[in-house]
Amino acid sequence: MQDFQQHLDTIHRDVLKLPNTGNVASYIPELAAVSNSKFGIHLLDIQKNKYAVGDCTERFSIQSISKVLSLSLAMRCINEAVWKRVDVEPSGDPFNHLSLLELEDGIPRNPLINAGAIVIADILVSELENPKADFLSFIRDLANDPSISYDEKVAKSERKTGFKNFAAANLLKSYGNLTNDVEDVLDFYFHQCSLHMNCVQLCDTFYLFINRGKCKRNKTYLNINQIKRINALMLTCGFYDEAGEFAFEVGLPGKSGVGGGIVALLPNNFCVATWSPALNKKGNSARGMAALEHLTTLTELSIF
Ligand code: GLU
Repeated sequence: MQDFQQHLDTIHRDVLKLPNTGNVASYIPELAAVSNSKFGIHLLDIQKNKYAVGDCTERFSIQSISKVLSLSLAMRCINEAVWKRVDVEPSGDPFNHLSLLELEDGIPRNPLINAGAIVIADILVSELENPKADFLSFIRDLANDPSISYDEKVAKSERKTGFKNFAAANLLKSYGNLTNDVEDVLDFYFHQCSLHMNCVQLCDTFYLFINRGKCKRNKTYLNINQIKRINALMLTCGFYDEAGEFAFEVGLPGKSGVGGGIVALLPNNFCVATWSPALNKKGNSARGMAALEHLTTLTELSIF
């Protein structure tokens, strides 16, 4: 039996001793205001025991972590038809890169880079009656937490400076891989990225990925094959152009966001969320990665 609480305490103490390198994301102006000294870790095991340390109940902008959740809802809506519009290969490029999109005729490399997530947003705008409200209720249901909400200030802030995302959406449109208006799709996308959540809520939401598609209340949202696919994508594509490094250092599927959050998980075992806003050069939380590397080393628990 693992003493997760002891491990988290040790990791928190040790990682705080390391220099706090990296920078808080500033290309979305609202994110630049967050203090880089925040650091929290929360772990939820398959038996639903919770372990916590540091700033794990403070909410932050989950940004790209939301891409796993929008993909999940799109798979619930149209299942395998998703793969006609987006591929499943790692990009090896930064999250907002556009060159591959042109080379590959408007089919994004995977649903976890921006262009791919914008296609997924387009699917949801088509499939859902009230896209933003329905997506939010999906997240609230998964976490069993009605207090989860969008951060309108962050969504607005990103809309003002989201030039690359407008470029990606227009490029997708030019290749016929965007059905709805660019404005409507990006309004949805900026809102999904602005979800304001803490590490505890993230673990609650991601529980279905360790529990074969069933949420904490035991309701089935996705089948085992869908979970297999999404977990595989998190492993190969969840960390921008550092997915290889994350698999090498940590050895778990997961997803990071430029708000400094990371969720990682070991199916049938545990789900862990970290938050530390200072990002390394590839856009992943520096302390978050260090903490997760310590965790899988100390516990000897990884998918490998
Ligand atoms: N909303 C952000 C963007 O589109 C998400 C980036 C991220 O967290 O990777 O640039």
